[in-house]
Amino acid sequence: MRLSQYFMPILRDDPKEAEIASHKLMLRAGMVRQEAAGSYSWLPMGFRVLKKIEQIVREEQDRAGAIEVLMPTLQSADLWRKSGRYDAYGKEMLRIKDRQDRDLLFGPTNEEMITDIFRSGVQSYKDVPRNLYHIQWKFRDEVRPRYGVMRGREFLMKDAYSFDLTREAGQHSYNKMFVSYLKTFARMGLQAVPMRAETGPIGGKDSHEFLILAPTGESEVFFDKGFHDFDWTNFEIDFDDVAAVAGTVEKFTSMYAATSEMHDAADYEKRVGTDRRMTGRGIEVGHIFFFGDKYSLPLGCEVQGQDGKKVTLQSGSYGIGVSRLVGAIIEASHDKDGIIWPEAVAPYKVGLINIKSGDAEADAASDKIYKALQAKGVEVLYDDRAQPGGAKFATMDLIGLPWQVIIGPRGLKEGIAEVKHRKTGARENVPLDQVVEKLAG
Ligand code: ATP
Ligand code: MG
Repeated sequence: MRLSQYFMPILRDDPKEAEIASHKLMLRAGMVRQEAAGSYSWLPMGFRVLKKIEQIVREEQDRAGAIEVLMPTLQSADLWRKSGRYDAYGKEMLRIKDRQDRDLLFGPTNEEMITDIFRSGVQSYKDVPRNLYHIQWKFRDEVRPRYGVMRGREFLMKDAYSFDLTREAGQHSYNKMFVSYLKTFARMGLQAVPMRAETGPIGGKDSHEFLILAPTGESEVFFDKGFHDFDWTNFEIDFDDVAAVAGTVEKFTSMYAATSEMHDAADYEKRVGTDRRMTGRGIEVGHIFFFGDKYSLPLGCEVQGQDGKKVTLQSGSYGIGVSRLVGAIIEASHDKDGIIWPEAVAPYKVGLINIKSGDAEADAASDKIYKALQAKGVEVLYDDRAQPGGAKFATMDLIGLPWQVIIGPRGLKEGIAEVKHRKTGARENVPLDQVVEKLAG
């Protein structure tokens, strides 16, 4: 993409309404625009990141055996009356009436709908286990939308729902999602620490939240320093191997980690030596629940068991804050100059800077590298605008693409481009004919 033909409304100064780094940077880099409290349009740069995160989430859900569907954003109130949540959910749920005066709601979550879908599509024990998920916009009328996309009112969530015959089988479904989450977040360059959690309005028995440690997180967290010594990079596993999956869950729950809501000071002091006690703040990027028959029972989600008797199914639900992750990743990865995208979620891999746009030689060399990178399938954003070099450098650092290729008259005399790694700041002179090779693959 040529910047001269793109839409990336950069702000020079920090927007006043933004309190935290990620919100400031997303606005400054022209990634999003606020439309109403907690509601954002995703501009091209932001949209690309959102899609990349969504795709990683999708791939890892699929790998763990979950099956993608898509449910509507608007739901009928009837199912929610059956589960008792229509009244229980409170003001966070946006209630709407259609022209026939029927009660609708903008889904804050989908337990009722998916349970009803599953109920109507299964008959026997052979139809379980299954895990269905979708990636869909949710609306929650938050008391205090803030921090940009991190606490929006309309936000993108991946929510999966498992259905099993027994409590034990349900535990395995829960464990699979647990392990899959570790891998999902690791692919985005994050360590999301699983912590025991309250179940809130979703309800249920077993629950973990996944939190990224960041000083601007909304939750206060207490954990064992030992988490830092775990291997957070390798989560290859056979998801059908019940013991192996349980083993990973066991390992990642063996150490103390809790948000303030679940924190037990006595237990913490007993289990964690003084030199290992860590406190800080965290951003919740995922939350998993096991709630048994909480929705299956009122909605009649049952199948015929092997002995011919009806069995009410056991369920769990598993959420990931896809749009929140865009902000959370920036909180975890930025410096004074701007965003530092992990390669897996970067809007483009390479930012190509022509320091002297308009100069015939610089234009020709830059165009050539631009086309060659594109031909190799490398995602490249090419700053070909007639702007001073300094402004281009600042913009490129702000938007945080992993690699910068800088082309200017001085280097061209020696047949080289400068390649800068955004994260480390390392700069290297690379012969023009080797630039593409260095960055492809
Ligand atoms: P929180 O405690 O942050 O309000 P929650 O516990 O109400 O979140 P869940 O029902 O667990 O949220 O939703 C699953 C995931 O969706 C959360 O882990 C979070 O990443 C994301 N999420 C929840 N609320 C919002 C929001 N208002 N804006 C953006 N993402 C959100
Ligand atoms: Mg939660």
